[in-house]
Amino acid sequence: MKGDVDLVVDMDDITVVNSGTGKVTVDGQAVENGKEYVTHAHDWKVVGAKEPTCTAEGYTGDKVCSICNAKVAGTVLEKLAHNYVDGKCTVCGAADPSVAPATGDASQPLVWTLAALLSCAGVVLLVKLNKERRA
Ligand SMILES: [Zn+2]
Ligand SMILES: [Zn+2]
Repeated sequence: MKGDVDLVVDMDDITVVNSGTGKVTVDGQAVENGKEYVTHAHDWKVVGAKEPTCTAEGYTGDKVCSICNAKVAGTVLEKLAHNYVDGKCTVCGAADPSVAPATGDASQPLVWTLAALLSCAGVVLLVKLNKERRA
């Protein structure tokens, strides 16, 4: 073989000999000219894994080979949604931003009052109509 070769083997007992003049890399390990390298199946251990919470991102953890220390970086896990109960997160205590504070805009309760009145009027009207039909 000539030129640079970058092999990924990840198997046990494959002997790679660099008999050329180029750079040979096997599973991230450089094999010098005239030298040989015996491969191994990486023995991956997960390091630094972290469960995400509603206040902090998690991490899948890096995969590190216990034999050759080869490392495959993990990925960041998105934060979890807050678990709001009665306007407060049961996990971290954060206030639910969708719950209007008591001193907030007064137009919102007015809309709800109007909607409640209208639905009451609808119920009253419906009951009346039924009575008239029976009569
Ligand atoms: Zn390894
Ligand atoms: Zn939370």
